[in-house]
Amino acid sequence: MAEPIDPPPAGFASLGLSDALVAAVTALGYEEPTPIQREAIPVLLSGRDVLGQAETGTGKTAAFALPMLQRVSEEPAARGQTLGLVLVPTRELAMQVAEAVHKYAKKLGSRVVPVYGGASMDQQIRALRHGAEVVVATPGRALDHIRRKTLALEGLRFLVLDEADEMLDMGFAEELEAILEATPSERQTALFSATLPSRIVAIAEKHLRNPVRVTLGRAKTSPGKLPRVRQVAYVVSRAHKAAALARVLDMESPASAIVFCRTRLEVETLVESLNAHGYRAEALHGGLVQRQRDRVMTAFRATKVDLLVATDVAARGLDIEHLSHVFNYDVPSTPEAYVHRIGRTGRVGRAGVAITLAEPREHRLLRFIEGFTKQKIDVATVPTVAELRARRLDLTKASLREQLLGGGLDEVRVVVESLAEEFDVLDIAAAGVKLAHAATVDGGGDQGSEREIPSAIPFERPRPAGHRDRFPSRGGGPPFRPSRRPGGEPVTRIHVSAGRQAGVRPGDLVGAITGEAGIGSREIGAIEIADRFSLVEVPERLANAIVSALRASTIKGKRVAVRREKEGP
Ligand code: AMP
Repeated sequence: MAEPIDPPPAGFASLGLSDALVAAVTALGYEEPTPIQREAIPVLLSGRDVLGQAETGTGKTAAFALPMLQRVSEEPAARGQTLGLVLVPTRELAMQVAEAVHKYAKKLGSRVVPVYGGASMDQQIRALRHGAEVVVATPGRALDHIRRKTLALEGLRFLVLDEADEMLDMGFAEELEAILEATPSERQTALFSATLPSRIVAIAEKHLRNPVRVTLGRAKTSPGKLPRVRQVAYVVSRAHKAAALARVLDMESPASAIVFCRTRLEVETLVESLNAHGYRAEALHGGLVQRQRDRVMTAFRATKVDLLVATDVAARGLDIEHLSHVFNYDVPSTPEAYVHRIGRTGRVGRAGVAITLAEPREHRLLRFIEGFTKQKIDVATVPTVAELRARRLDLTKASLREQLLGGGLDEVRVVVESLAEEFDVLDIAAAGVKLAHAATVDGGGDQGSEREIPSAIPFERPRPAGHRDRFPSRGGGPPFRPSRRPGGEPVTRIHVSAGRQAGVRPGDLVGAITGEAGIGSREIGAIEIADRFSLVEVPERLANAIVSALRASTIKGKRVAVRREKEGP
């Protein structure tokens, strides 16, 4: 791999971020700020409050975390005092955001502690006592610590409410009020939400000081005339992306393709893994000098390279005649970037294909892009091994047909004739096909792509009908205790924001889980249907997958808020 040479990180530095933070994001392979970062960071650095509307996948975490870290590191406060607090709706998000903040804070030395329900209280208390400049917490657990006086917010400078609409949907309104009350009024506040219903606006009016509104510009520019492109999205978890891409590549066998990634690091990792799987892939990112880019492009034009793997920055201004396929390894952070990327295929009247790998939590961003382009993105499942085999056989058949039509078979005809003295002609043909097929598969570099991809989750697959009601509703809001299954396996409960009033029956929940997550109905335990919500008992080890699957699906035709059952009173 070519030695990356850092470009001047003018993008992030020009927003007013300190050298340490610019170095941190550069090390993570970010090449330029996303639009939401460009808008929010300078405003937050100036000390103003922000009311931001942004979906997951737009880069909103860095948009609040980087200025928060900078403001907090400028404070002369006693070491270890909690200066920054980020409230998030779920445990998974708490872990993710804490990890991101930790990475950004590496060079500053600020300590970050995540605090969420369902984990050991003692351990969290120890971590908090040790001192944490930044705490990332779910509201229930945060309040618990405030009341126990294990989390002191008197010195708080910077508060973030992330995914505020989700927090309200989950019934955290009272906790939020109580936490806000426990913080000093002169703190700086950033509120981020995918939607801005009146309840959110009311919170902003009450608790934010003259906030600057930051929005991902809704269709400021027109998508222009989009080319004829088949658009497909596969929903896969991050851990299975590389395998999913390999499988989709096998299925599509693109004539010429580019794979877009968000960061330079991702480009490098992906190129390595694709090369290890027998593809000829080359990286294009902002860290390459002109000579290196030229070499890659020459090799690509001479078809010595199958795949270009590029960041948006590196692909800008590239002169590529025609691509059969554009792959988005990540959903791009804006609709404009999506349009720009897929515009590289389907040119001059030829049909092209644009394929996006999306993580379950990015479904909203995909819908947002659809709204912008006014074009549908079909959501599909990653091809199964059987489909892949059938598709490969089709390719072999097409090659054989070409051979038959092309003629020039006299040389080998004698072989068939001599074998025909001993064998049936059809059998001889079958053996020939088998050999030809084996040769293409062996040469196709498909090792690794036949692994199972268990968490490929489609968004809205029709759910199996006729699920029997396994656990009839006991009615009322039942008291819950943590439980274990007969085998001793830990279980947890999942809270779904729809219940009897919405017409939900146990079968709807079982259907959604088995249909969306591909989880056997035997894994699902007791189901409680209350008036306005439902609770489903599931094994702890499957809880995250089931939450993601339910979030990406609909119950009774409607999207519902889904989370683990709220911890303790
Ligand atoms: P978020 O919307 O905060 O969940 O971020 C989505 C993803 O984009 C995360 O994996 C981030 O690491 C990544 N990301 C955030 N900002 C940038 C950037 N400026 N360039 C490239 N990737 C980014």
